[in-house]
Amino acid sequence: MATSDPAPVMSTAATRRGVSIHEDCEVTELRRVAGRAHDVHTSVGVVRADQVVVATSGYTGRLTPWLQRRIVPIGSYVIVTEPLSDELIDDIMPTRRVAADTNRVCYYFRITPDNRLLFGGRARFAVTVKESDARSGRILRRGMTEIFPQLTGTRIEYCWGGLVDMSLDQMVHAGERDGVLYSVGYSGHGVQMATHMGSVMAQMVGGASDVNPWGSLTFFPMPGHFGPPWFLPPAAPLFKFLDKVS
Ligand SMILES: Cc1cc2nc3c(=O)[nH]c(=O)nc-3n(C[C@H](O)[C@H](O)[C@H](O)COP(=O)(O)OP(=O)(O)OC[C@H]3O[C@@H](n4cnc5c(N)ncnc54)[C@H](O)[C@@H]3O)c2cc1C
Repeated sequence: MATSDPAPVMSTAATRRGVSIHEDCEVTELRRVAGRAHDVHTSVGVVRADQVVVATSGYTGRLTPWLQRRIVPIGSYVIVTEPLSDELIDDIMPTRRVAADTNRVCYYFRITPDNRLLFGGRARFAVTVKESDARSGRILRRGMTEIFPQLTGTRIEYCWGGLVDMSLDQMVHAGERDGVLYSVGYSGHGVQMATHMGSVMAQMVGGASDVNPWGSLTFFPMPGHFGPPWFLPPAAPLFKFLDKVS
């Protein structure tokens, strides 16, 4: 079956090379055996791994406390309208280019190949769950109609959200800590970079030591961050205020 979703394409390429993928299988504990070798405890059993790469992005949690202190999970959301007429698209985005604003709490948008407006942004700094995604969708819709009042009566047909992995300097950080390799901190820009870092991490697993483009960066913890990000609710209005006055 032809597909435009890159995930099945990548997983097919991986399985063709002998990779075994286990979905719905949470890693609950990493117990170091020696060097990089770990017993990996999961919700369905334990495996002994010669090497472990942690790439948990916005879902980084107490499995790796050192990383958890350095990664803030922030919800990010997208809405997609019903198909728009050519006239309406000519009116709102005549060049059909991808656009983004420069705010701290930013919006980004583009016309999809089937003539819908895809409109994304942080909406609010909440941890994403199904119910709150719908609420974030409504906030995004308000933002969309402020920019494009022409879309006031337009139906939203899709809405989704997920977590992104914000580091303090909003840079990617990759390396090795306590025998565990990691690559995180894409800060909402991981589509290309995480894919690239996949091949960099594979080389590191293979023994290469000079391939990590982020190796010289110091990975600072987020001050005051030890578990769930208690500071996000007050941070959102602060950032929105700073966006207004700057
Ligand atoms: C709504 C939205 C829009 C976005 N738009 C863009 C965009 O336009 N451009 C862009 O560059 N980026 C965008 N991003 C960010 C981009 O999706 C991420 O940066 C990228 O997916 C990171 O890839 P990754 O493989 O590192 O992590 P992810 O794709 O997040 O994968 C991490 C995986 O780790 C798994 N995991 C975590 N903990 C455990 C555990 N203990 N056990 C087992 N599995 C675990 C998770 O289930 C998840 O599958 C967007 C993100 C969202 C949510």
